[in-house]
Amino acid sequence: MAHKVTLIPGDGIGPELTEATRRVLEATGVAFEWDVQPAGAEVMAEHGGNPLPESTLDSIRRNGVALKGPITTPVGEGFRSVNVGLRVSLDLYAQVRPCKTYAGVRTRYDHVDLVIVRETTEDIYAGIEFEQGTPECEELIAWLAAHGEKLPQPDTGISIKPTSITGTRRVFEFAFDYARRMGRRKITAVHKANIMKFTDGLWLHVAQAVAAENPDIEFEDRIADNMCMQLVQRPEEYDLMVLPNLYGDIVSDLAAGLIGGLGVAPGANFGKGVAVFEPTHGSAPKYAGQNKVNPIAQLLSGVLMLRHLDEAAAADRLETSIADLIREGKSLTYDMKPSRNDPTAVGTSEVADALIAKLTA
Ligand code: NAD
Repeated sequence: MAHKVTLIPGDGIGPELTEATRRVLEATGVAFEWDVQPAGAEVMAEHGGNPLPESTLDSIRRNGVALKGPITTPVGEGFRSVNVGLRVSLDLYAQVRPCKTYAGVRTRYDHVDLVIVRETTEDIYAGIEFEQGTPECEELIAWLAAHGEKLPQPDTGISIKPTSITGTRRVFEFAFDYARRMGRRKITAVHKANIMKFTDGLWLHVAQAVAAENPDIEFEDRIADNMCMQLVQRPEEYDLMVLPNLYGDIVSDLAAGLIGGLGVAPGANFGKGVAVFEPTHGSAPKYAGQNKVNPIAQLLSGVLMLRHLDEAAAADRLETSIADLIREGKSLTYDMKPSRNDPTAVGTSEVADALIAKLTA
């Protein structure tokens, strides 16, 4: 039976990356029925000014799985990011960023193999903000003062950090389930519970409760600043980390840096019954349509999708082919060569061709 998957090509470099990935995924022998759906600024005019058509969301809800290219967020007032829109509309609460070094990638670290799970609906990124000087902000400052919380300065802007039992529990339940399915041995909960007792403290308590219900997987916690130092000094001691929204954003970039950067950093976003697979990087508009950029992060997102679809053998074969390609160092894009002007660099579609040759040899 073919897997029905929503395919969102996106814009900028998205269409060429998703096309390369589609061809390679098909070469694994797994059957797909692609449901190609639009999203992004370019499709707004045809969809009543909406960059994220309801039909695209319906397709993801129906199929449960989407492979997505990057989508540009135009700078300017009144444009809601499609990426944020997808996260909110589908309640994608767990972002997964595996960070693994492949031999041949230029990086300071070998043998890094981490997974970052980031909660993506709460925390200081929830978007509850009060602009300095507005009546609402003044009112909030006065309310706080009336409740014994005088701010150090009156000319203050405020962002709120909501952290719920429900939101924390579901991301840890997801993480333990994911760890079990992916053969991970240890979960580290990251927090600043020592400072923020009612938000990160709650996060830690709920994490400990979920850990007690999942005794087959080792559990520990780390304070966020210490976590950063530990990751830089001894990344091999960590396995799967679960972080609130803000720390997750920062630490997933730190971890991407450990493994050689954006070109090789895949990602996935999970909600209840839905999963959207996409690279960490953006739409790099200046390279659009040039058949130049690196498809490996998008391809590795395809590997994650294969695992999610229980196509472990195909996922292993594709990941091995990508690892071989990187180690051999020939059919790679400019960003993975020793120098950016390396004349032996190939284009996006040639990387796909080389992988297809390996998969069908
Ligand atoms: P970006 O990741 O698009 O590009 C930054 C730089 O990284 C590029 O100029 C390029 O040099 C390099 N790069 C990125 N992907 C590459 C690849 N596959 N191969 C080789 N080099 C690559 O980040 P940005 O410039 O900050 O953002 C551009 C647009 O993408 C913005 O509109 C932003 O909102 C959007 N964005 C979308 C997503 C998403 O769709 N999930 C994520 C991040 C950013």
